[in-house]
Amino acid sequence: MHFRHLAKAIRGHRDVVIPTETVNLVVERLQSANIKDAKARQEHIQGIREVKRQLEALVCPRCGGELKRRKGQRGEFYGCSNYPRCRFTRSV
Ligand SMILES: [Zn+2]
Repeated sequence: MHFRHLAKAIRGHRDVVIPTETVNLVVERLQSANIKDAKARQEHIQGIREVKRQLEALVCPRCGGELKRRKGQRGEFYGCSNYPRCRFTRSV
């Protein structure tokens, strides 16, 4: 999620459910985690695009194995063909 979308999403909530101190702590964490360096930001975005591309091609982003459709107790999901060596899963 882009920072500007996050701010809009947060503004959509009006009821106070989290104490101000906790909110300030979260703000501090988010600001320190925000990537300010342009090159690092670009690499971060490229990394996300690469993972997205792999998931669409049904390739495990952790080990490069094939993602296969499986049936579990809580419904269908994609699991890595290298299970149990790789336990990567994603929702269908
Ligand atoms: Zn895998």
